[in-house]
Amino acid sequence: DDGEACSFIVPSVIDRSPLVVAISSGGEAPMVARLLRQQMETWLPEGIARLASWVGGWRKQVAQRIPDARVRVRFWQDVLDGSPAEQVLAGRESSANNLLEQRLESDAVNGSVGEAWLVGAGPGDPGLLTRRGQYLLQRADAVLYDRLVSPQIIDLARRDAELVCVGKQGGGPSTDQGDINRELLRRVRQGQRVCRLKGGDPFVFGRGGEELQALAEAGLPFQAVPGITAASGCAAYAGIPLTHRGLAEGVSFVTGHRAPGTPPTDWAPLVQSGHTLVIYMGARRVAALCQDLQDHGKPATTPAAVVEQGTTRDQRVTGGTLATLPGRMGEVRTPGLLIVGDVARLAGELQWFETAPETGRSAQTKWQ
Ligand code: SAH
Repeated sequence: DDGEACSFIVPSVIDRSPLVVAISSGGEAPMVARLLRQQMETWLPEGIARLASWVGGWRKQVAQRIPDARVRVRFWQDVLDGSPAEQVLAGRESSANNLLEQRLESDAVNGSVGEAWLVGAGPGDPGLLTRRGQYLLQRADAVLYDRLVSPQIIDLARRDAELVCVGKQGGGPSTDQGDINRELLRRVRQGQRVCRLKGGDPFVFGRGGEELQALAEAGLPFQAVPGITAASGCAAYAGIPLTHRGLAEGVSFVTGHRAPGTPPTDWAPLVQSGHTLVIYMGARRVAALCQDLQDHGKPATTPAAVVEQGTTRDQRVTGGTLATLPGRMGEVRTPGLLIVGDVARLAGELQWFETAPETGRSAQTKWQ
């Protein structure tokens, strides 16, 4: 433990031969290495050594029966994730062998069967990805992701997974939806397991339904995993409950953007409902939207807030009323969400999320 005087380092070792984990801090902080070793000891299952030997015993035979490396990686992933590995860990190797035999039989015959996983990545904070979403993401051969998905989430993909950005940006360059559908189909037909990662929830203004329709029409298998939609994420991180006793008995998610050729939004029933209105894709049109709502009978004093880049360290919340909010916004940072209703007033009281000091604008959050 005297770095200067030493010519070698003894790492902290966890020995589960044939599996060996060595942790070294390069002589800097052996205490930290030891601490880590203690923690790892507790979560490395008892039978992990047995599992490693068991895999070693099968490897050659599996490689002969499944020559395609990609299919083989998937085979082992499924075996180690599933009941064969569980059986080994529980000390029932003969039952594990039977299960592996069966799987080997079907995978060697069928090759790799593709599947698409439509996964919601949440609004920004990588911690808001669901466990199911993460599980599938880490198993995908290819990841087709939207521009809004945070890089830390994409980092969770397998090292050898193909990462393809099919980003869409309001007004900016975008991949045509038809091209995205075709790309998805092409890969699944080739036998890939494709994770289609979308910002927020794939079924809330995400066009996820259209992608699944294309897969369904082609008779290809798929799964969908929900995500935290921008409304839920921004509401929580801005301290604006979407419903609140006495303030709002319902909430409506509405788009602030109309595709050319579609009729304008019918605001009247939304205004009459008294629901909190969460308006997606409207950050660049806040002034027009606030005016529309007033024209349809919302009082000018109705509280409203815009949450820009919600749930990220750059989140910015600007509050006001339908009358005052547009004048307080300044240059818009997308993505942004407009929340209209009495609940918006609670943002001051329920503020908890700390943003980077230079970007946060909670100080401007006045609710008159
Ligand atoms: N499927 C997504 C929505 C896609 S539409 C979801 O469920 O959240 C894109 C719009 O979502 C943006 O124009 C913006 O209004 C909103 N949005 C997405 N992420 C956001 C974020 N981090 N902060 C504020 N608004 C966001």
